[in-house]
Amino acid sequence: MTTTNDELFARARAVIPGGVDSPVRAYGSVGGTPRFVTSAEGAYITDAEGRRYIDLVASWGPALVGHSHPEVVAAVQDAAARGLSFGAPTPAEAELVEEIVRRVPAVEKARLVSTGTEATMTAIRLARGATGRDLLVKFAGHYHGHSDGLLAAAGSGLATFALPGSAGVPAAIAAQTLVVPYNDRAALEAVFAAHPGRIAAVITEAAAANMGVVAPVSGFTSFLAGLCRDNGALLISDEVLTGFRAAAGGYAQVLAEAGEHVVPDLVTFGKVIGGGLPVAAVGGRADVMDLLAPVGPVYQAGTLSGNPVAVAAGLATLRLADDAVYARLSEASGTLSRAVDDALDEAGVPHVVQRAGTLFSVFFGVEVAGGVPDYATAQRQDADAYGRFFHALLDQGVSLPPSAFEAWFVTAAHDDEVIARIVDALPAAARAAVG
Ligand code: PLP
Repeated sequence: MTTTNDELFARARAVIPGGVDSPVRAYGSVGGTPRFVTSAEGAYITDAEGRRYIDLVASWGPALVGHSHPEVVAAVQDAAARGLSFGAPTPAEAELVEEIVRRVPAVEKARLVSTGTEATMTAIRLARGATGRDLLVKFAGHYHGHSDGLLAAAGSGLATFALPGSAGVPAAIAAQTLVVPYNDRAALEAVFAAHPGRIAAVITEAAAANMGVVAPVSGFTSFLAGLCRDNGALLISDEVLTGFRAAAGGYAQVLAEAGEHVVPDLVTFGKVIGGGLPVAAVGGRADVMDLLAPVGPVYQAGTLSGNPVAVAAGLATLRLADDAVYARLSEASGTLSRAVDDALDEAGVPHVVQRAGTLFSVFFGVEVAGGVPDYATAQRQDADAYGRFFHALLDQGVSLPPSAFEAWFVTAAHDDEVIARIVDALPAAARAAVG
């Protein structure tokens, strides 16, 4: 007898808040019942009812080379057979960090942690430890995980302290954060001018991809880096999502190829570097990284940090992620994003498609000359139109991210045939979006 997604959701909701272990999975903003996934292979996921879907979530990024890649699975099996966790250093940890150092010029040393949230939390503690200052600047609409100080919403004015962005975040902690609009040079200058000598760091997504994809406008990241340097603050580039996905060297490489050679003080990674298992990292300047315990005074630790099975998955994934993989991601995302653009044009649905390296997303219901630059504009999206589009694709066997504010993730297993299947499903979905 088949257990349906509805039955599984009801059962889960009885014991797990909302039935899910991370909110977006509950389909809250698109409505309906989440698909309970029982297996995944290549570009496909299979749900508990035995239905196969083309997956455009890719575990929210980690599945760079496709689900259950045989070499990644073999590496995991091999590592698991030798032991699950030792609480002692293992040889593969340095190999994974060497791979990161090789790809990202700003990273001289890195420390492995288990989640992106831990990575950004540690980066901020390091920046505070290095500067002896407390204040943190973040951009509205950028997501850096769920630590207290980063769940902060803009206060009443540009240079005022942030308000808690979630119940349970103490106002006193949110008040250590200043939230400014993205891609806004004047706002950044104002915040530094209002708090001279008090800002420890600015944290930025290397290219924003948690409010839809919003790349930094040309020159913005260099300007930001210069302002940080001039004011004695550190620049933390969050590449948890973009790292080793937007390009082989992360979004830093995309910027460098456009002539912007930005060297952040600290960089955070996650997602791809675990290949689907929990690995993340904070890295950067060796002198700053060496402030971490046991060398320096900034404390950080983790029972499962550098877990051997997780590191094996990440290392296997990064070793597979060669030029051909990035060429495939680029081809797949380019073809798909152009096809979505055409289908929505054809159906008369106002929209903007935005890209950052191999990442892209679609803003429904907004048409902005020059594109969506910031969160205020991103919030003008028509989430209902997206919901209709989402369900029309799901009915045709294509699983999009269940929120209008997410990037669409392809993998190297999204070959021409898979992309063609999605493209065939687009016209009906675009007509459904009209409502
Ligand atoms: N930073 C960015 C840019 C992210 O996209 C995310 C997660 O989506 C995080 C940090 C937090 O990572 P995690 O969910 O592994 O804690």
